[in-house]
Formats: sequence, C-alpha cells, structure tokens
Amino acid sequence: MMFRIPLISLALAALPWSYTASAQVDEIGYGGPEGLDIYEELSEEPTSSESDERIWDVNDSLTFIPGYDMYCHWNTNVLFDRMSAQRLDQDTLHLQLAHAECDHAMPCSGAMTSPYGMRRGRMHYGVDLDLTTGDPVVAAFSGMVRISKYNKSFGNVVVVRHYNGLETLYAHLSKRHVEPGTLIEAGDTLGLGGNTGRSYGSHLHFEVRFLDQPIDPTLLFDIENGTLKAKSFELHRATFNSLAAAKAASTASAGSRKYHIVRSGDTLSAISRRTGVRVRDLCRINGIRETSVLSIGQRIRYN
Ligand SMILES: [Zn+2]
Repeated sequence: MMFRIPLISLALAALPWSYTASAQVDEIGYGGPEGLDIYEELSEEPTSSESDERIWDVNDSLTFIPGYDMYCHWNTNVLFDRMSAQRLDQDTLHLQLAHAECDHAMPCSGAMTSPYGMRRGRMHYGVDLDLTTGDPVVAAFSGMVRISKYNKSFGNVVVVRHYNGLETLYAHLSKRHVEPGTLIEAGDTLGLGGNTGRSYGSHLHFEVRFLDQPIDPTLLFDIENGTLKAKSFELHRATFNSLAAAKAASTASAGSRKYHIVRSGDTLSAISRRTGVRVRDLCRINGIRETSVLSIGQRIRYN
C-alpha cells in the first residue's frame, strides 16, 4: 500500500531549522559487478528557487516523519551529511528491525557482487547486488521516502527513512516510482533496477545508514538467504569509530604510495624486477591484466 503526504516534505524544506543544501555530504565509492571503481565527492546544488513556493500547513505534524526526533531535520535534497553522527549520544543503541517476517524484504534477489568495505584503498559504503535492468527494487523496511532524484554518481537514487532511524539507499535505478513523502511498507516497489549514474553493468548499490553513517548491510541481512540476521540490531559507537579508523588508515597510506612511471620499452616484468613486486600483485594493485599494454608516462603503483 502506498500513501502520499506531499505537504510534509514540501513544507519542511521551507522551515528555518531545516538543513540547507550547503551541508557537507559524505564521500561515496562504489562500482559495478566487474569491480571497477569510480569514486566521486558528491556536491549538491542548492534548490533555493523552489523554497519560496512551499507552504507550511499547521495541520501537518513532525510526528509523521520517521526518526525525526533523532535527526532533527528532514532534507529531501542532500543524500547524507557528516553532522548527524554527532547526535549519537549513546554508546549502544538497540534498534528493533522487525516484529514479524513480513516486516522486511530484500531489495532484490540477486547475489552480492561487491561487499561493503575498503576496496583498493577506498571505502565502498554499501553492497552491490546483481539484477537485470527492469527488475523491481523494493523497500527493505517500512518508512517514508526522503529522497527520490537523479544524482550524477548514484544515478536514479531513492533513500527511505525508517521508523527506527535507519535509512536505506537504492542506487542506479532505471526508473523511480516514489517521491519524497511517500509512505511505504516493506516490500513495496521503489523503482526498477538499472545501470544509471556511475555504474558498469546493471546492479543495485544498496546502503544502510544510521544518522548518516554507513553500516555494513551484511550485519543486518543474510543476503544469500534473503532474511534478517536477527529481529533487532545493536548499534555500537565502535561501529562508527572503526569506520573512521579505516578511513584514517586509508588516507595515511594514500600519502605513502609509490609509483613507477612507465618509460619507453618498459614491461610489467621489467617493472616487477625493478620494484621487487610480483607481476600478479602489480596487476591486482593497479586493476590491470598481465596482457595490458602499458603507455609511456603511465603510473604503476607498486606498494
Ligand atoms: Zn556499490
């Protein structure tokens, strides 16, 4: 069942305490089934021209917004910002995910083609799930659509806020069937899977976030069996701290990367002999094949 409460999302954006589009957004990284990596710092364009026309209806209530007490804002434009995590003032939070089997659904039935986590020195903030363009993508839990728009990196993307404060993101859709403010139940179709945005091959990039901080979806979902691992989830501050540590380590190592600049006549085996790094490892680190043709001036990382 779907219901529309259009006034809420429109009206809230005009309120003085709602977030403006200048909020920082987190860096994302993701790739397609082939494992190609495209990363881009997102920048959101303000859409102030619309705000003048938005009308606040006193009969609308903030209690309609899932998790409003935790976020204190409802932004239908900016995907995620970095400030919300500071609102996590408890070391451990108990999140009820479901009461019954029908309270959750896997967004699509495909296998995981790329996991959450560090990938070639960059974070992949979600999981990639295999699908065919046109396959329905459904909501993991009930809630309200916060974002439904086109983004140059995520393509057609939908973000749903759930009643426990979790948010889920569904990217690279070929079609979106919901709008901000749409109330949805678990299993409702949000759109159709696709290959839009920075994506190589049809797949769903699926994220789970709490207070804008990413969580490994496999902590909640048994993707292979399409079930929840448990009906509740303990969220620890350490979950976020370990993420921050991984990012810091990544940033630190990025500064000490070593490269060989390809010169005329260079081959991978010659570079391997010079650097002491196996050809197989050079290929893995640089995402190339042993048969790849090197071009003069190309940077080959060897640590
Ligand atoms: Zn992805």
